[in-house]
Amino acid sequence: MAFERRTKEAQPVLAICYDFDKTLSPDDMQAQGYIQSVGYDIGPFWAETNHLAQENDMDTNLAYMYKMVQESEGKLIFSRESLAGYGAKVKLFPGVLQWFERIRAYGKEHGVIVEHYIISSGLKEMIEGTEIAKNGVFEKIYASSFYYNARGVAVWPAQVINYTSKTQFLFRIEKGVLDINDPGVNDYFPPEEMRVPFRNMVYIGDSDTDIPCMKLVNAYGGHSIGVYDPQTGNREKVHRMILDGRIRYVAAADYSENQELDRLVKAIIDKTAAYEKLESQYFCDMAEAKKTGEIIDKRM
Ligand SMILES: [Mg+2]
Repeated sequence: MAFERRTKEAQPVLAICYDFDKTLSPDDMQAQGYIQSVGYDIGPFWAETNHLAQENDMDTNLAYMYKMVQESEGKLIFSRESLAGYGAKVKLFPGVLQWFERIRAYGKEHGVIVEHYIISSGLKEMIEGTEIAKNGVFEKIYASSFYYNARGVAVWPAQVINYTSKTQFLFRIEKGVLDINDPGVNDYFPPEEMRVPFRNMVYIGDSDTDIPCMKLVNAYGGHSIGVYDPQTGNREKVHRMILDGRIRYVAAADYSENQELDRLVKAIIDKTAAYEKLESQYFCDMAEAKKTGEIIDKRM
């Protein structure tokens, strides 16, 4: 089987990776129609899934996915299409609709290829139903998803993505080994062949499940941003994250032009353009020195 692989581009690539719930959307995606349609209030639904997880030493995502399958029985057809339908109703933070193309265009003007990726513990099928995904703005959506039987009904988890398992996708993006089953993610790549070195990654998230990714991106010279709901203005979580060294920047989840987040990401693009010019000069000079071999001979 041929996997989708991408190799290093002539221009630097800046990968912007987004969590979904409470990063691009103000609430959990399941709480914006699905939970209500199976006759639950939001609080009790999550309380029951958390209880299920605790009682059975179960992953919390697997618990909510099991609960969704169970609660749908006899109430709705739990298919890819119905999940996409719930996804279409998911609200987005201000400016999200115009954000992706505007930032991509800004990158292009400055010689940087901007790519957008989703890395979410939420449901891929719902994210695929959102207007932004339908517009094709994402290179890849990495999220939890279901396996469907012959009648198209979800019966089993196909992927479950949480905490440290989110980090796997950063390594896939780094190497351009994007297919979720491609074992090439563990191959060795020399630094100059990395398609998207970590320093050219931006991770935008809001909470605990994002911490391993944020920490990793930060530790390797990339840019982690913690966002908070501009409506409530509650910055407690993101302030804790910056104090704990998980993120470098805090911004309201307002994706409109000239807002804090817009200015911040454009500054990261400017920095990337300048830095990568120097970096490619360094790789050129190094390659030249290796080719001549003079120094190596004299040293031996
Ligand atoms: Mg989130």
